[in-house]
Amino acid sequence: MGNRFQVLDRFADGAQYIGGEIRPGGSGKVQPIVDPASGDTVHRYTTAGPAEVDAAVAAARAALPDWAGATPAERSDALRRLAAVLAERAGDFARVESLQCGKPIKLCNEFDVPGTVDNAAFFAGAARHLQGQSAGEYSGDHTSYVRREPIGVIGSIAPWNYPLQMAGWKILPAIAAGNTVVLKPAEITPLTSVMFAQAATDAGLPPGVVNVVSGTGRDAGEHLVRHPDVAMVSFTGSTAVGKRVGALATDSVKRLHLELGGKAPFVVFDDADPEAAIQGAVAGALINSGQDCTAATRVYVQRPLYRRILEGIADTMAGVRLGDPFDPATDLGPLVSQAHRDRVAGFVERARSHATVVTGGKAPCEQGAYYLPTLIADAAQHSEIVQAEIFGPVLVILPFDTDDEGIALANDTPYGLAASAWTRDVFRANRATREIAAGCVWINDHIPIISEMPHGGYRASGFGKDMSMYSFEEYTQVKHVMFDNTAVARKDWHRTVFGDR
Ligand code: NAD
Repeated sequence: MGNRFQVLDRFADGAQYIGGEIRPGGSGKVQPIVDPASGDTVHRYTTAGPAEVDAAVAAARAALPDWAGATPAERSDALRRLAAVLAERAGDFARVESLQCGKPIKLCNEFDVPGTVDNAAFFAGAARHLQGQSAGEYSGDHTSYVRREPIGVIGSIAPWNYPLQMAGWKILPAIAAGNTVVLKPAEITPLTSVMFAQAATDAGLPPGVVNVVSGTGRDAGEHLVRHPDVAMVSFTGSTAVGKRVGALATDSVKRLHLELGGKAPFVVFDDADPEAAIQGAVAGALINSGQDCTAATRVYVQRPLYRRILEGIADTMAGVRLGDPFDPATDLGPLVSQAHRDRVAGFVERARSHATVVTGGKAPCEQGAYYLPTLIADAAQHSEIVQAEIFGPVLVILPFDTDDEGIALANDTPYGLAASAWTRDVFRANRATREIAAGCVWINDHIPIISEMPHGGYRASGFGKDMSMYSFEEYTQVKHVMFDNTAVARKDWHRTVFGDR
């Protein structure tokens, strides 16, 4: 046990990364890093206060002219080198991510870290590939063209569920487009974000292009969102906090990108492959212990398959191996904290009065923030357990009769981040992709993401896209440039303002 925490020694000088250097925080408040598998405090750091946020924004602002003025090829080269440094340090990133979040090491090794390396490689390519409308003589008398310019200093705020991937999703498209960034990770999981910023420096990115302020939402987050030198706020987190951040950002007329909560439906039509649906539901619900904004949370099964799918999911959940996150055989680690485990358990306890806990529904042990994979049946569509984002290994299963009903139930929460439909009928599949209101609809799978394709919500799940060229473009602003081609003083259109002279 002793050795695994040695990786934390690198944060002895602090968990702030400002202007190319690790620094201590100045808030005077000490934040523990707790190993969720044991409940032990394994590290402590002083959080960022307004002074660190000001310093980070100043560093980002100072770095902006040169970085925005670098050629696309120069930025692309830097991102390519960053991808290489991230890949070289993959083992370190995986260990620290697992330690601070309690994630199974196999998930870190096979998903979190390679996903981030691939994102860096993708945005290295994207940096040289900004596209737009072609220049042209649209008015006849002018040449018009569009410039896509960086926005400025981006203030980014990220959650604790995928700290490294969220750092990548926020930072990479922004810097590829010539912006500079101040990222505030969640205060309980800041370490891989600091390592990411260090990797950027080691890859040759100029100091100040990537900065990290590790602190609380109230002390550091709000100051960042309000900061007059921050031109855009990019937030990933819960819908409740997103509303607050949105209000603060709008108050100072900042650009806004909000990636918020989800409650993804998983709709199984009666012609689906039942085994595929069972496997997919368990994997989709339990990835990252269900602490995933796109996790399958509501399984709707057309009546003829209902019992079979319910029993199959319960059996498969019972075979999932909970254990030490560092054991490569562990499927499911603890939740991120005891407090979050208690919150998840609270949802299940409140559901007991009106629903059936088919399997799970409790913590398997006293130690650590573990919670058993849980399947709940017989809940009413409008009950809390079906409507609210639980963010744990808890799946609700409900039957439906007609296709219309299945789709209507899928759309019946305020969220719209992701969804899946399970069928072998191409017309049903096509209908589901059209009619389910979500930023992503999978057919016969649930969870996979790729760098080339956008990730982002509809409705209460927010707006703005991460990954893909869509996100790259969101970190640019569009300028119309118009040249007069006539060289005459008296333009034809002046007639509309004053008469002939
Ligand atoms: P959260 O909303 O509590 O916190 C997110 C971040 O906001 C943290 O860094 C937090 O410190 C900061 N914050 C809190 N209060 C703030 C304030 N007043 N001003 C500024 N910043 C503030 O979310 P969480 O519990 O860390 O993460 C889980 C949530 O994130 C879930 O709702 C999940 O669905 C969502 N999420 C969404 C996506 C997506 O892509 N849509 C991805 C991952 C997670």
